[in-house]
This record gives sequence, C-alpha cells and structure tokens, in this order.
Amino acid sequence: MQENKYNILLVEDEENLHETLKLNLKLEGYGVTSAFTGSAALKAVQEEYFDLIIMDVMLPEIDGISITETIRVSDNDVPILILSAKNSGADKILGLRKGADDYLTKPFNLEELLLRVEKLIDKNRKLQEKQTIANTYSFNNYTIDFKAQIAITNEKKIALSKKETMLLKLLIENEGKVVTREKILQVVWGYNVYPTTRTIDNFILSFRKYFEVDSRNPQHFHSVRGAGYKFTK
Ligand code: CA
Repeated sequence: MQENKYNILLVEDEENLHETLKLNLKLEGYGVTSAFTGSAALKAVQEEYFDLIIMDVMLPEIDGISITETIRVSDNDVPILILSAKNSGADKILGLRKGADDYLTKPFNLEELLLRVEKLIDKNRKLQEKQTIANTYSFNNYTIDFKAQIAITNEKKIALSKKETMLLKLLIENEGKVVTREKILQVVWGYNVYPTTRTIDNFILSFRKYFEVDSRNPQHFHSVRGAGYKFTK
C-alpha cells in the first residue's frame, strides 16, 4: 500500500455495485469516500480533495453529467471517470464534452476499471509535477526554499510550517492571478479538514509579517474580497 493513499470519491447509487467497487478500490490501497446521491457528491467535492472521481450518470437528485459540469465550472481539474448503464453514444459524448476524462459502460470488467483508475491518477499526478515550480523561489530580498521549508530574508531565516510552505507555493505558482479559497482548501488542506476563512487569513497575515515592509500596505500578498488571494512579485 502506498504511504500517501490516493483518495477516490465513489458516486454510485446502486448499493451492491457501490460496495463491490469500494471493497476492491480499498484492496488496491485507495482511500474511498462514498456518495449515493448527486447532492452528496457535490458536497463532498466542496469539502475534500480527491485524486479521482468515479461518477455514475443516473443518480437521485442531480445526474452525474450535471455534477461533472459543475465541478469543471468551479475550476476543479480532478480526473473524472464516468459510469453509465446507457449504451448510447450520446451519453458518452455529452459526459466527455462536459469535462469527464474517461468513460465506462455498465456492465464493465472490474479489472478494466481498476486499470483505468490507476492510469488516470498516474497521468494527473505527472501533470501536477510538471506544473510545479523549482525548489527555490526568490523575490525582492527573500528566498524561499520549498523543500527545506524555510524562508531566508536579509535579517533572518524563518522556519515555515508544512501548510505555510504549501500555501506559499500555490500562490507563487499562480503569480499575478487570484487563487480562490476553494482551490486553497483543495490543495493545502484537502482530506476531510475544512478550515474557516479565518484560518487562511491568518496564514496570509503571517506571510505579510515575514515578507512585507509594511504589513498594512501589502505589496506581495493581497486579499481579493469575495474571490481569494493573490501573490505579486
Ligand atoms: Ca445509478
């Protein structure tokens, strides 16, 4: 089993199939969160970070294709594998058009599903690695070493917590762009923990203390009301 388990959201309302899939995914070493309705799926996506979503199409309340569309509209790139009982190509095309990454028609071969899951997660992980910046980043008189989790300024060396380092990295990778609260929660907090807005604010206040000449008049770490946070060099 991997040290850091990949987390999968399983959205499927047929109980027998749900339990079979869950059991087999767990046997493969994945963490599995269950959703049996469309609204439960949407709630889970807003509260937790997932490495993959397995999404049934025909669901109570909200269908899987609408959920997929909602997830993509909120700028979440989580890989989505759609499951459908329908054999019609229209459903498949619509699902893919709304942002699904892959598609399986029921009944499917379990081994094939597990293989596709593995491939999608692997592809996404490689993509994320490619997008990440180098191990160190400098601006003004500051250097941040993401690996060592320290910031070096003119006067001192600041030890950063793991979450501080992750948040700094996320903001710096998106230099000049607003990073939404949802994205921050997804990337930095993830897994089941849902901090309040104040938690993120406190991190930003720390960054200002570390890196701003005048923390009340920030030049680098900006709060954008109603939207999120932005780093500028
Ligand atoms: Ca169903």
